[in-house]
Amino acid sequence: MIVARTITDLKEHLYALSEGGRRSIGFVPTMGYLHEGHASLMREAKAKNVIAVLSVFVNPTQFGPNEDLDRYPRDEERDLKLADECGIDVVFLPTVQQMYPKPSKTSIIVSGLTDRLCGASRPRHFDGVGLIVGKLFHLIKPDRVYFGMKDAQQVAVIQQMVDDLNFDTVIVPCPTVREPDGLALSSRNVYLSAEHRAQAVILSQSLEQARGWIQEETMTAGSLLSRVKERIGSAPDAVIDYVELLRYPSLEPLDEQELTHKLESPALLAMAVKFGTTRLIDNSLYHPSGGV
Ligand code: AMP
Repeated sequence: MIVARTITDLKEHLYALSEGGRRSIGFVPTMGYLHEGHASLMREAKAKNVIAVLSVFVNPTQFGPNEDLDRYPRDEERDLKLADECGIDVVFLPTVQQMYPKPSKTSIIVSGLTDRLCGASRPRHFDGVGLIVGKLFHLIKPDRVYFGMKDAQQVAVIQQMVDDLNFDTVIVPCPTVREPDGLALSSRNVYLSAEHRAQAVILSQSLEQARGWIQEETMTAGSLLSRVKERIGSAPDAVIDYVELLRYPSLEPLDEQELTHKLESPALLAMAVKFGTTRLIDNSLYHPSGGV
């Protein structure tokens, strides 16, 4: 496994390994502190492409001023070991100086899709995501890029960016990997106290219950959201940031009175919930057929 820390190194290795772009490249962008969710993406990238590339970069431009940039967990040694085990060929581990040698004056703003959910709670977050993902796509020129549906809004935003800017790459959404009790794996789970970790299972539990509620004949979007919020509220320390039901991938809101068993397009039930200073997100995609 090659570890490239500079853009020059990365380009040289990729050019040689891909034989000048003739062999397929699968790419997994991450912020590190890797877990089984990331591993599932890495294995998929290696299974479906000749060359698998991982990037580990805690991207400052996607963090707000009062967010956890400085304390974001890091463990380079463990990340490299897991990447190697998953068959990654090249790890790109740039410094902030490599990616942003001078302040960027160019923005990639995907309008509309970024107004809601995490975009509303974290202003400019998706501008930072668009910028770094755009830069990485140009450097790596991947044939396929693997993203987790845990960040469903991110998948919708990046797909829109790829379509709008004609990036020559296919976005591959991958399922959310969970702990045995249902909690979605996240690098940020390490922040949770034992008490909050126990309560955090309420996110996946409420999504699971909603799957049944959504099929009730008289269930409306409005009452579904009320029930889900009430369920989350049963965890004593849960503070809801948002719980929303939106069409996917357009992220347009459903009419409050819309009957959920009559949905004609996929709907995303998405939530962000805080336990102390830790903000967790989770979601479920409901298909009109009733499948998930
Ligand atoms: P992050 O390092 O948190 O920026 O995530 C990097 C990639 O891993 C993103 O595409 C995430 O959606 C994906 N990811 C994070 N957690 C999970 C998970 N539990 N299951 C599947 N993919 C995940």
